[in-house]
Amino acid sequence: MIVEVINTGTELLLGDILNTNFQYLSKALNQKGFDVLYQTTVGDNETRLREVLKIAIARADIIVTTGGLGPTRGDITKEMVASALDLPLELDQETLEKINQFFIHRGICMPENNVKQAMIPQGAHILKNDAGTAPGLAVEADDKLIILLPGPPNEMKHVCTEQMLPFLEEHFSQQGIIHSKVLRLKGIGESTVAEKLDDIIMSQTNPTIAIYARSGEIIIRITAKSIDYAMAEAMIAEMEAEVRKRLENNIYGVDNESLAKKLGEELLKRNSTISFAESCTGGLASSMLTDIPGSSEYLLGSVVSYSNEAKAKVINVSEDSLKKYGAVSEQVAREMAAGVRNLFNTTLGVGITGIAGPGGGSSEKPVGLVYMAIASEKGIVCQKHKFHGSRTDNKLRSVLAAFSLALDKLNEEF
Ligand code: ATP
Repeated sequence: MIVEVINTGTELLLGDILNTNFQYLSKALNQKGFDVLYQTTVGDNETRLREVLKIAIARADIIVTTGGLGPTRGDITKEMVASALDLPLELDQETLEKINQFFIHRGICMPENNVKQAMIPQGAHILKNDAGTAPGLAVEADDKLIILLPGPPNEMKHVCTEQMLPFLEEHFSQQGIIHSKVLRLKGIGESTVAEKLDDIIMSQTNPTIAIYARSGEIIIRITAKSIDYAMAEAMIAEMEAEVRKRLENNIYGVDNESLAKKLGEELLKRNSTISFAESCTGGLASSMLTDIPGSSEYLLGSVVSYSNEAKAKVINVSEDSLKKYGAVSEQVAREMAAGVRNLFNTTLGVGITGIAGPGGGSSEKPVGLVYMAIASEKGIVCQKHKFHGSRTDNKLRSVLAAFSLALDKLNEEF
């Protein structure tokens, strides 16, 4: 079943709002085994919407629209769909009563305009909308199914999950499902991953495999299409085993497991604790770790030692090192790690110092240069990185690289 999603709204075309409805719908439909192969965004314009519907009807079996079901003249989706399928609009008394009740509950009279929302194409199936006034609709004609969903994301999600998906499942019971698993990697670049998986990538059919580079990490997504979850999972497991054979040392987690969560788990497992001395990351590492529930068990404290004075006074970095090597240097990163570890008496102490940019760089110490050091009772390791992103990106990458280094240190020593 080929699906096309049509998102209506001039705001989307102007870039004023992000098309989150499409992301949600596409994921939901693909998971149920419906192939979303086309997506069109169109403004609230009769001629263009008519044209877009015509194209979609010609190439897709199921068309799902969002938006344009409101009570105003600018809301034209239903009218255009009825016209494209040559169906008259009829007043649906039950829907009108529901809309009326919606307003009564809020203690206001239903505006006359809202009667428009109770007009439905002849023969349409109503997809109830308990989150708003405009119901969703499913209209069938000439072997095509057109589903109309409201535009506000909370209403769209509600009608999608409560009404549309069950309706589709009932209609097309044997579509199969699409299931994905994500493997998360650290300490390796995208091209090396691609090289190691080249033959798998070249011969992929089902499951498929895709590599994505995100800030500071690489993600491998394995996607299987099958008749049920168990079968899809078995197919994924087979390919995952092959991928793990080649990249086991770099895979730190699956699906939504973040590096912060993994680090927290590993610290907990070993009864270990951690503290951070953050300069260029300004507290981001500590913040990301405290996003994990229960992190007070292992994150004992941190210092945002942004200035040289803070580095010297709070975590005991030597004035000599600051003068001789500069705040962004291996020596200072090492002293920050050791200093914060002493201050909080933790298993690991992490020091991060660098130039996040966009200003402050020099030819000797360019923007993106970051040193991170991890101190433990066995000694201090330090890494030098050169990132190439925006200020925000460089901060995030620094934190993830520090988490990754801390994980390695834990694995090696404890
Ligand atoms: P309403 O009765 O509120 O007018 P509607 O079904 O006519 O509902 P729209 O007017 O198209 O829907 O959209 C209402 C609001 O929902 C938009 O102003 C926008 O904030 C949000 N919205 C619409 N479409 C999308 C989308 N594709 N992604 C994210 N937000 C959206």
